[in-house]
Amino acid sequence: MSNATRHLDDAAARGDGSMPSDDLDTEERFLPLVVLGEMVIMPHMTIPLQVPQGKSYRAMERAWDEDHEVLLIFVREGELEGYKSNQPQQLPFTGVIARLEEFAKLPDGTARVILEGLHRATIKSAIQIQPFYRVNCLPVYDIDEDGMEIQALMDTVKQQVDEFVDHLGEVPQEAVQFVHRIERPGHLADIVTWGPAFDFKDRLEVLNTLDPVDRLRKANMVLARQLELLKLRAKIQQDTKEVLDQSQREYFLREQMRVIRRELGEDDDSDDPIDELRRKVAELVAPDYVKSQALHEIKRLAQQGMNSPEAGVIRTYLDWILNLPWAEEEHAEISIAEAQKVLNEDHFGLERVKERILEFLAVRKLAGNKMRSPILCFVGPPGVGKTSLGRSIARALGRQFIRTSLGGVRDEAEIRGHRRTYIGAMPGRVVQGMKSVKSNSPVYVLDEVDKVGTDFRGDPTSALLEVLDPEQNNTFSDHYLEIPFDLSRVIFIATANQLDPIPSPLRDRMEIIEIGGYTEDEKLGIARGFLVPKQREFHGLKTGQLEITDGAVLKLVREYTREAGVRNLERELATLCRKVARKVASDGDPGAEVVLETYVIDTADVPTYLGPERFSFGLAEEHDEVGVATGVAWTSTGGDILSIEVLPVKGKGGLLLTGQLGDVMKESAQAAVSYVRSKADQLGIDSNYFEEHNIHIHVPEGAVPKDGPSAGITLTTALISAMTGRTVRRDVAMTGEVTLRGKVLGIGGLKEKTLAAHRAGIRTFILPKENAKDIVELPEKVRQDLTLIPVTSMDEVLRVALNPIAVVVPPLPITPVVPPPVVVH
Ligand code: ADP
Repeated sequence: MSNATRHLDDAAARGDGSMPSDDLDTEERFLPLVVLGEMVIMPHMTIPLQVPQGKSYRAMERAWDEDHEVLLIFVREGELEGYKSNQPQQLPFTGVIARLEEFAKLPDGTARVILEGLHRATIKSAIQIQPFYRVNCLPVYDIDEDGMEIQALMDTVKQQVDEFVDHLGEVPQEAVQFVHRIERPGHLADIVTWGPAFDFKDRLEVLNTLDPVDRLRKANMVLARQLELLKLRAKIQQDTKEVLDQSQREYFLREQMRVIRRELGEDDDSDDPIDELRRKVAELVAPDYVKSQALHEIKRLAQQGMNSPEAGVIRTYLDWILNLPWAEEEHAEISIAEAQKVLNEDHFGLERVKERILEFLAVRKLAGNKMRSPILCFVGPPGVGKTSLGRSIARALGRQFIRTSLGGVRDEAEIRGHRRTYIGAMPGRVVQGMKSVKSNSPVYVLDEVDKVGTDFRGDPTSALLEVLDPEQNNTFSDHYLEIPFDLSRVIFIATANQLDPIPSPLRDRMEIIEIGGYTEDEKLGIARGFLVPKQREFHGLKTGQLEITDGAVLKLVREYTREAGVRNLERELATLCRKVARKVASDGDPGAEVVLETYVIDTADVPTYLGPERFSFGLAEEHDEVGVATGVAWTSTGGDILSIEVLPVKGKGGLLLTGQLGDVMKESAQAAVSYVRSKADQLGIDSNYFEEHNIHIHVPEGAVPKDGPSAGITLTTALISAMTGRTVRRDVAMTGEVTLRGKVLGIGGLKEKTLAAHRAGIRTFILPKENAKDIVELPEKVRQDLTLIPVTSMDEVLRVALNPIAVVVPPLPITPVVPPPVVVH
């Protein structure tokens, strides 16, 4: 109990002058107890009530007969039970002594009473239970204090009441004035609790706080909190209203626009985008699951509203669904003869490949969709016509054609798309391709399947497997679409430059068709029959206006391009056509050259159009040299010849390798050195040679990485040449792995390698005996022009590749005469 609130007996005993009044009763009282619910009647309040039968009724009935005083306590609904059932809970600490102003029994058994709260009382004990409670209580009166702080507090509370009233607006002015007139803090606290800011709990708290200043502080806190809430609520309401006003405004404007449009006759009643979308779904030819997904999304769109942030995402999604080719298509029966005609029209040579394609088409024709046809995979260097064969197949079948390059794809999502939860999500490349052709049975070329990589973003190969597997691709799942898309009618064709990098699960699902590089003659044929007419037409030239002689084409092949395919050749021919087209087009311009009837481009004219030659044709070396041997490499772009140079210099037996050699090639160089050391005697090399020399091996074009074991015999030949001083025949190229004992082992890519040698003007080609079986696969022209010599040992290589020594040296065990080579036709 604070020093400002005392039972009057204490105050009286002290005799301090702050006692409110002398005639207050300070005695303990024995009052009938009235239990009220959540309606708290504070001192100074008068309230009418209707009281049903019960203990409180009886308590009041008795009080009415006695001195009209009752003690009120306030108990929450659920907690009332104990009092009703004659088991009083522990009584609350504080109650309010009230006077019954009226007690009138009504016909329905209830009583109408008017109660006036007088002052607080602390409850001591229950002294009677039946027929109503009677309690022993002690009145408590406020003893008021003065002071600046109290005054400031009272002012604050009054000000808050004003603000509250401002916000609520409906409080009668008299009530406000009444509050302003209150001068005692406890009284003010009691009165403001009656306001709407206070709930039952707050009121009880104020009631239980006997110290008047403390009580006012509590009331002040509640008011402040409620005021803050009120302001916040008002702000939210205002914001909401603004948003609503804005959208209502838009709605009205749109409505007006619609009316105006209708008046102008521009309205086709399809204005509502939701209706429009529904109509499109109804018209869409697609399986049911697609339509129901689309309708589901439209429903979401309608719920969220066209202006919601989600709307854009949903509309884009619907746009995809509505524009994908879901419908099955009818195709005319495949005519094999027609297909053959188309393939021949588009491509020169490639007989085996065309044959294989026709077989593939024949099976498809007979088995129809029953047989899930295998996926064709064309493997070969760039520019040999892999993609354009795909295009021809599409033409032969009368189907659409799409091509997607998978080179450098490392992310599964590029193939399968991103989930819609990502910002800017899109379907993967496969579905994108399908949308672009608007057909669900196109010929789909997946280029560069050997260049698909794997990293932390998932494995694109597994997605690709699903695309290509005829068992699974009828329900291909794209992350963005979320619903399966049927790819089973698509004819997939894969292309790759090399077979080895293709992951084996993928390779197993495909039928590999290798397409090798072209010989000069073939390139000539392709240029004459296909590339020149095609480019001439592309550039708007008539047949008679431009003629390119065979000599010129050959010069392009030999000195302007060095490639397995014909891609660069085509580019150079295009340049020629462009230059001539420019001349023809400037006909009649002032100062222009006189336009010729026909432009004939012959060998000698090529440099005037294309500039100086880029490659020198013919053998790399002008003379047979010591320490340089010619090997051949096989790369993803075809074959190429490469020289290997060896230079021994005075030193202490070191080995230096340069020219970006890979590990395997370095090891073969070391093996070659060991082999030569072991044969030093036989080869007539001084036994101290290796201790006294450092050996530098270099493979020119140092910027190009080189690797693989197949340069073994070339390295060894160059080494022996350098050490014995015997020259290497510059018209001989070789390939083969060599063991430490000098055995020659097989290699890969024979076709590309012999083609490269042939291109470079090589006459004799040494190859491992193991590869002799592949000779039949080589182009006719290569077999005619090259002397192919299969060997099993290093001795045989040396016998062919090295010239007899010119100076007189101790006789070598190697036969100095070149034996008749084994020529295989
Ligand atoms: P790849 O896909 O193998 O890299 P492309 O299919 O792009 O090669 O071919 C490059 C160009 O060469 C195309 O214009 C193609 O028509 C042409 N071409 C390639 N081989 C032949 C051929 N045998 N007959 C006619 N044109 C060919």
